[in-house]
Amino acid sequence: MIKRFDGREYNELRKIKTKLNVVDNARGSAIFSFGDTVALAAVYGPKPSKMSLDYEKAFLRVRYNMLTFSTPERKKPTPGRREIELSEVIKRALESTLLLEEIPGSIVDVYVEILNADAGTRTASINAASLALSLAGIPMKDLIVGLAVGKIGEKIVVDLNKEEEDYDSEKLKKDPEKSKYIEYYGEGRATDIPVAIIPSEKKFTLIQLDGEISNKELNDSLNLALEKSLEIKEIMKKTILNTYKTSTL
Ligand code: ADP
Repeated sequence: MIKRFDGREYNELRKIKTKLNVVDNARGSAIFSFGDTVALAAVYGPKPSKMSLDYEKAFLRVRYNMLTFSTPERKKPTPGRREIELSEVIKRALESTLLLEEIPGSIVDVYVEILNADAGTRTASINAASLALSLAGIPMKDLIVGLAVGKIGEKIVVDLNKEEEDYDSEKLKKDPEKSKYIEYYGEGRATDIPVAIIPSEKKFTLIQLDGEISNKELNDSLNLALEKSLEIKEIMKKTILNTYKTSTL
């Protein structure tokens, strides 16, 4: 039976890989990947802030960057509008789970580098940063989890890759090798919904939507995201616990 382009079921995540403490001079660092999308996050601080405004709570700074060789076509090295916007999006998603008031008067810096991009880089960045912040000992309510859900043609799926994000049934009709996938996805284009979730509270701290979707489909997509966020959190939790176990041996 025909399945998604890469053979997954509608509710199946790409293969998740994690690697912790990968940057020696960072307080906490982690690599998180969804299939071919690989994000590296490094956390520096907390260090004292020189700005008197920051005495109520710590100030979080996030810089998201996509490496020039992370995409099939070389990306421009200078940070563009997209990178500036994504830095802000990731910062807002993370802020809602951090207890920054517990470390007032300080600055926490999070640097995210996309080593390889195949869609879902902002959500992989959130997960890498979540792991790195936790390893750095920054107080937080819960690990925050990022993932994308969406509608491709007429089908609700989780964790879209680039080929799915670019889906267009009209274009596929002209491609003899790929036209069979219309049977699975249906007619239309793709709607991508990246989200961030605090799993213990079932709370969304980020919902973005690029495309068109009905209320019912949006509801179904968000429910699927909630369900899958628990699976991702378990993997993240296990990775952290394993590191502590091996480091105390
Ligand atoms: P996200 O990576 O969070 O899904 P976008 O929707 O902006 O964010 O990007 C989707 C995908 O498009 C990226 O993961 C990457 O594979 C590709 N992409 C984005 N920007 C560029 C770029 N400047 N050059 C090449 N590919 C890009």
